[in-house]
Amino acid sequence: MTPPVNRNSALFLDIDGTLLDMARTPDDVVVPDGLLASLARLHDALDGALAFVSGRSLGAIDTLFAPFRTAAVGCHGAEIRSADGRVEALAAPIPDPVRALFGTLTDRHPGTLLEDKLYALSLHYRLAPEARSALLAAMEENAALFADQRVSIQLGKAVIDAKRVGIDKGVGVRTLMRQKPFRDRVPLFGGDDTTDTDVFHILPELGGEGFSVGRALRGAAYEFSSPEAVRQWLNDLAEEGVTA
Ligand SMILES: [Mg+2]
Repeated sequence: MTPPVNRNSALFLDIDGTLLDMARTPDDVVVPDGLLASLARLHDALDGALAFVSGRSLGAIDTLFAPFRTAAVGCHGAEIRSADGRVEALAAPIPDPVRALFGTLTDRHPGTLLEDKLYALSLHYRLAPEARSALLAAMEENAALFADQRVSIQLGKAVIDAKRVGIDKGVGVRTLMRQKPFRDRVPLFGGDDTTDTDVFHILPELGGEGFSVGRALRGAAYEFSSPEAVRQWLNDLAEEGVTA
């Protein structure tokens, strides 16, 4: 069963692992043309109430989906772009001592990749799985530094994310839900990873529902088998038109 979408819905979509297949590195993902077309049609059908919710920066999201642009939660909630294009930072940049530590760890473990998004850092080890245990140990050893610097660490699929305490994707979705055209709509959020559970948690309070991709996640009422299945569903929705 696929999640219900009608004219009063607001769609919030994670990108990597939800809309797009995971790739060797974040730069290697592919955005199929069909997906771009579906998103543009649904964006219009929902009067703009369609937003990306990603760990990527707003700049990286726009590069990926150009020329399509919509509201977005970037850097796990640290950056918000409203439907009218206004951009707001909800957090201060990651402090330099944490940035330096992540840089050192990346240098020490060949094959790891550091994505510096100013408000968040992502240390990818998909190409260096053997580094995982040492990286996780380093996170534990530096717990006091993270606490001092008001940084929280979250573990995802072959990635370690650093972001400011109090910032998460749920904060970002809640912010957009207070604004037009999202306000008073029923949110539907889709995600595939641990950082997405921060949105699943708050969906009941927003009167919304969620779907997960590739695995069951707590708080998600629906589940798709793969990003490909999500893209097919979006394509069908765009073709059939959103019902009133
Ligand atoms: Mg994801």
